[in-house]
Amino acid sequence: MTARKAKSTTKRSVRRVKGAQRAVRTREKGALAEYRRKRDFTKTAEPKGRRSAARQKRALAFVIQKHAATRLHFDLRLELDGVMKSWAVPKGPSLDPSEKRLAMQVEDHPIEYNTFEGIIPKGEYGGGSVMLWDRGTYAYPEKTDDPEQRLRDGYQRGDFKFELYGKRLRGSWVLVRLRRGDPQKPAWLLIKHRDEHARPGYDIVAAEPTSVRSRRTMEQIAKGRSRIWNSNR
Ligand code: MN
Repeated sequence: MTARKAKSTTKRSVRRVKGAQRAVRTREKGALAEYRRKRDFTKTAEPKGRRSAARQKRALAFVIQKHAATRLHFDLRLELDGVMKSWAVPKGPSLDPSEKRLAMQVEDHPIEYNTFEGIIPKGEYGGGSVMLWDRGTYAYPEKTDDPEQRLRDGYQRGDFKFELYGKRLRGSWVLVRLRRGDPQKPAWLLIKHRDEHARPGYDIVAAEPTSVRSRRTMEQIAKGRSRIWNSNR
């Protein structure tokens, strides 16, 4: 290859990379549109969400937030393609493999949401207290060449297998998409696989009532002046 040819090849690949980065940015912007539409960021301290395309190779994040909204539920969030795929789990997770927990898929959330604990003002979307109940990383449960692609495939197929590395939740799990319900807001089942982290008959939601970050109870979060409450005013 001549020097000139090599230079133009480099330029082309730089253009290709920049185009791909733009595509990722656009996709992420679109992915969070529903999240942003539902919230008034002049009133809630929840993050607006801004992701740069320059993602480093690192473990994917997972978080569970206990949320005392109109109805108490647990929000399970798993990072995929620059956003947190999210499910509202009314009863919360169970370590008992015979317990299938209903998980209603909700809009993708920004990755910055993973550190949010505090109060969403009354009258705002999801108004109520939010507790960080568990957090850590997650991965595809088996050795494979492209684990992220395997996770993506599983998610799209509605047979989403993953392994959690949290403080409270560990081991292998699956989210199975049900055929019923609104295709925009599908219902799934969250199930613990049988492995050394399974605990039949154990109620982890009752056993762990406090924040994994601050050790506060829901009542303390609701009463306490949150550090992030309307910090932008
Ligand atoms: Mn919620």
